[in-house]
Amino acid sequence: MTRVPLRRALSDLPPYVPGARAAVGAAAFKLSSNENPYPPLPSVVATIADAAVDINRYPDMHATELCEAIAGSLGVDPETVVAGCGSVAVLGHILTAVCESGDEVVLPWRSFEAYPIAISLAGGVGVPVPLAAGGRLDLPAMAAAITPRTRVVLVCTPNNPTGPSVHADELDEFLAAVPEDVLVVLDEAYVEFVRDPQAPDAMALFAAHRNVVVLRTFSKAYGLAGLRVGYAVARARLAAGIRAASTPFGVSHVAQLAAVASLRHTPELLARVERVVGERTRLLDGLRAQGWDVPDSQANFVWLPLGDAATAFAERSARAGVIVRPFAGDGVRVSVGEPEAVDLFLEIAAEAAPR
Ligand SMILES: *Cc1c(COP(=O)(O)O)cnc(C)c1O
Repeated sequence: MTRVPLRRALSDLPPYVPGARAAVGAAAFKLSSNENPYPPLPSVVATIADAAVDINRYPDMHATELCEAIAGSLGVDPETVVAGCGSVAVLGHILTAVCESGDEVVLPWRSFEAYPIAISLAGGVGVPVPLAAGGRLDLPAMAAAITPRTRVVLVCTPNNPTGPSVHADELDEFLAAVPEDVLVVLDEAYVEFVRDPQAPDAMALFAAHRNVVVLRTFSKAYGLAGLRVGYAVARARLAAGIRAASTPFGVSHVAQLAAVASLRHTPELLARVERVVGERTRLLDGLRAQGWDVPDSQANFVWLPLGDAATAFAERSARAGVIVRPFAGDGVRVSVGEPEAVDLFLEIAAEAAPR
């Protein structure tokens, strides 16, 4: 039998494992996908409902109003902003825009599980660089991994799933070492949750370096994960290239209007982020008091380095009412949820605590 061959890259792809959901009818806190525990603001829901009447039409292809609103909030030229169907899609478009087949993409590992998939699908070759102690990116090792074949370096800060942010001084040194024709993607999906005073100012780095692209999303702090909208900020020539590689009409009309409405309510939404940050501190402190060795987190999740015990721990947690995300053989990522979810998770963790 002769069959249509699939690309070889597909057979090597690691699967993207979505955070587990509760069984239908079962009550459980879903702390497995780094979602915002709070529902959208009523005014944003009203905007979404109003937008529904126009969905017989294609959306604005380049999300003009949204890109202008984002640009206004960041103080950049609107032509530097490219929106997409989640920042995961934007990352794919960036890689498609700059990678020739076989080009190397340096990435930290363990990091965001979408990276190896996006790199392979774009025809690139991932060059994973192990994390340093404490779940931190090893930027000197990442700089050292750059070869003449390297086209892109992915910098996930804060790093998903371990939590720490890179520091401004180490990122400055790193950027000084990276050749100017190698793109550096600063993936800041969790930037609104960062409280580390040593964290970098990505927009200042974007202004200073032509090869820096900043990736952000409405999925986490803004609570619009289900609508799929994220964006890149890139120099105009690169931005035009990313737009050219993008899915036409990739951001729905509903998502565009909801994101614009959310930007108008940034102070209210950031007050919710502050509550999550408060719960993060309570979760980290509670775990450490139980004897857990957890890395710092600047995002809306914490990492338990459980090694081979990760999967069994996640199963036990789910049975007790909290769904977390295991990475087999490595650890468990727990999203910061509502206070009741944090309380319950701390009880579950206490039973498995190292001392
Ligand atoms: C959640 C996340 C994203 C954003 O995903 P969307 O596609 O915008 O929902 C991007 N990068 C990292 C590291 C993430 O954890």
